[in-house]
Amino acid sequence: MQQFDVVVIGAGAAGLMCAAKAGQGGLRVALLDHSEKLAEKIRISGGGRCNFTNVNVSEENFISENPRFARAALARYTPADFISLVKQYNIPFHEKHKGQLFCDRKSDDIIDMLAAECNAGKVKWFRPHSVSAVEHDGTQFKLATTAGPLQARHLVVATGGLPVPKIGATDFGMKLAKQFGHSLVDQRPALVPLTFDSALWEPFVELAGVALPVSSRGSEPLAPWFDEDLLFTHRGLSGPAVLQASTYWNPGKPITLNLCGKPVDAAELQTELLQATLGARANADNWFAAQVPHWPKRLVQAWLKKPELQAVAGRKVAELGKKQLGPLAQALAAWQVVPSGTEGYKKAEVMRGGVSTADLQPKTLESRKIPGLYFIGEVVDVTGWLGGYNFQWAWASGTTAALAILGQ
Ligand code: FAD
Repeated sequence: MQQFDVVVIGAGAAGLMCAAKAGQGGLRVALLDHSEKLAEKIRISGGGRCNFTNVNVSEENFISENPRFARAALARYTPADFISLVKQYNIPFHEKHKGQLFCDRKSDDIIDMLAAECNAGKVKWFRPHSVSAVEHDGTQFKLATTAGPLQARHLVVATGGLPVPKIGATDFGMKLAKQFGHSLVDQRPALVPLTFDSALWEPFVELAGVALPVSSRGSEPLAPWFDEDLLFTHRGLSGPAVLQASTYWNPGKPITLNLCGKPVDAAELQTELLQATLGARANADNWFAAQVPHWPKRLVQAWLKKPELQAVAGRKVAELGKKQLGPLAQALAAWQVVPSGTEGYKKAEVMRGGVSTADLQPKTLESRKIPGLYFIGEVVDVTGWLGGYNFQWAWASGTTAALAILGQ
């Protein structure tokens, strides 16, 4: 039996951070992961350049059944803290847009940095190894693993969410939470492309590859608007605008897209369009194209084939009145489309739901049911927006748990 102060299961973003901090604080730390390659999710993140944080982070950038839960951990370890660590390792980075920070070179810079931090804390690696059973005798956690039995007073679960099973995602953390009496919030893919019924999507299939800036909104009552790029795919919609909206989308409900390139509602747009018809001589198709100068031509053509625009297509501008422009304004300022589903965990960037925050202490991430048990990172019901927020949650929750174990 190998004895440690802390065993961390999962050497991804949150687990590496937690193990490093606990080890550097003087604790004997074991870090176990079943994957052959270290931190593959960090490696593939941000298109290979890891959007490792965002300069502006608050609990408002996260979704959870308890929207305030993330606040304490996010305040304990901030983006500025992580940026100073990145600078300490001389890792070059840049801000892309909306405060999103990316590596100039590759995500490996972040993985190497975290591995070095673990080594500085004399963390003992158990990789690739898996856990077959976990028991708690009231003071110690006893783990049966492929590296033999491990024992520790503190157990940190950092096994992440369900996206991208082919690189090692499992439901281990959620099963363990259940074993120890924790409740779970229903899980589903988030930050994920949306798919559509093939008959509904038929007019748009030819648009695969078309991208344009839009505002997007999911179906939930409190869903925010996101100003991002939309991308048409063969099966539906993707791009940052749709990934963001997908997190706030519920099956059977529509997402809403404002395609007109300005923040107006349908009524305002109808008035603008009516004014734009005054004195215009062109045919309605050309006039319509002039109203959406930021649209690719292919999109204009496909759009005019939409049933609700039949009253516009092929007409003269002089014939356009409220009856025709009302539906057009509605379709442009608030296009509502009902996805049939998502591209699933294969393509999702994160999981919504997970281990309920109701059973965790926000200031420590410790279980309210079993002292010494901690859940950190994506396995917890805290899901960030696209833009570096999910990594910031991993760094912050990992650090918070480590400091709590250290009694700080
Ligand atoms: P992970 O990093 O997933 O780590 C979990 C670890 O646990 C893995 O190493 C896994 O092998 C291990 N594990 C799982 N089950 C077991 C088991 N049974 N036994 C032992 N080990 C196990 N977020 C951002 O903020 N910015 C980005 O740029 C970004 N890009 C992304 C791009 C893609 C394609 C994807 C899929 C995600 C992206 N994310 C991004 C999200 C981000 O990667 C995750 O939210 C983050 O990695 C979660 O950290 P974690 O430590 O909780 O889980």
